[in-house]
Amino acid sequence: MKKRNLRIALALCLALLLLPGLANRAEAAVTNNTLPTITTQPTAVTAANGKTATFKVVASGTGLTYQWQYSSDGKAWKTPSFTSNTATISMTANASRNGLLFRCVVTNSAGSATSNAVRLTVSGVKPVITTQPAAVTVANGKTATFKVVASGTGLTYQWQYSSDGKTWKTPSFTSNAATVSMTANASRNGLLFRCVVKNSYGTVTSNAARLTVSGVKPAITTQPTAVTATAGSKATFKVVASGTGLTYQWQYSSDGGKTWKTPSFTSNAASVTMDATSARNGLLFHCVVTNAAGSVTSNAVKLTVITKPVITTQPAAVTVASGKTATFKVVASGTGLTYQWQYSSDGKTWKTPSFTSNAATVSMTANAARNGLLFRCVVTNAAGSVTSNAVKLTVVSTVYWTPGGTKYHSTADCPSLARSSNIRSGSVSDAAKEGKSEPCKNCFH
Ligand SMILES: [Zn+2]
Repeated sequence: MKKRNLRIALALCLALLLLPGLANRAEAAVTNNTLPTITTQPTAVTAANGKTATFKVVASGTGLTYQWQYSSDGKAWKTPSFTSNTATISMTANASRNGLLFRCVVTNSAGSATSNAVRLTVSGVKPVITTQPAAVTVANGKTATFKVVASGTGLTYQWQYSSDGKTWKTPSFTSNAATVSMTANASRNGLLFRCVVKNSYGTVTSNAARLTVSGVKPAITTQPTAVTATAGSKATFKVVASGTGLTYQWQYSSDGGKTWKTPSFTSNAASVTMDATSARNGLLFHCVVTNAAGSVTSNAVKLTVITKPVITTQPAAVTVASGKTATFKVVASGTGLTYQWQYSSDGKTWKTPSFTSNAATVSMTANAARNGLLFRCVVTNAAGSVTSNAVKLTVVSTVYWTPGGTKYHSTADCPSLARSSNIRSGSVSDAAKEGKSEPCKNCFH
């Protein structure tokens, strides 16, 4: 075996010595495998809306292939839908392409080279913001600078500031260029800045970016808002403050903001969450935000805890003559109450009446079909429902009266009739014909 291996090795050495041309050719192939070199970078293009925009790259190397890419932010790159695999690409300039970056990846068997990224600016369309302003943190007394980059032609710039992100004002300092600079100070801490970029084709407004000034006391940029919560749920207050090295402490007041206490629950973050309990209903909350330079206290806001309704006066049973009006009434306390009366013939199955029955008081015409029905009211708010007692409607079809009396009665046994000997009876209209049109208050209720 050893001898045979030696013979193969010798044969290989001989072959290499005798075939120097073969070795040279292999070496040449390696030499040709060099990365593409971009000899002429593409240049930025400005093209009128609707016209053709063309980018071009020149590269040296062998076996080159080209692939153009575009990006709106210079970070994420995509392949165009149009033909883009040659050294030169062309496309129609339009509003949606305004501000896009283009670059070309040139590839051969040795690898790839990527060109510079250059921008397409489309004239005749409204501006496009290609780089939004970024939040800035600057020490008190130093210069704070915001910058926007927009694509388009004939652009003008106007920066604005806001303390709440809703109302925007124009600064007193120069602020009509792509870059704006100002001295960072306490009064500017937490302000938002944005830029309105215009040309004759339209206006675009940048994102808002915040200025945080270090070395000054905190500024509250978003005040807490009042909270209404149902008992048993959670209530959360939140504050947003600008500044560096911030700490937070929430406090509550039960006397309308005269004295303030620290809660027993965790309350030292920008947001505080607690159980909404009836005991906390009406408390005021505020947050003290502190850093090395000082403290600021937020607005005080109220916690309203909604509890289930409480029925303070139950409905009472009603006895009424047929054809008259029967009325039930419930009295409940609570906020945001709604009412729904129900009726039942057996006290088990409850139905909603066809007549109006969604107020504290419900009225209906008494008739034989309604005699004996039970009525109850379901009182509801955001915290839940409570159901009243069920009370009976008694509809009397025969009424009683005496010729000398002034009222009609639901029963001949009414105490008001105890000493009467001549008791007459009939329908409520029979009684009315004899001048008895008022029900007795003793036996009707
Ligand atoms: Zn009576």
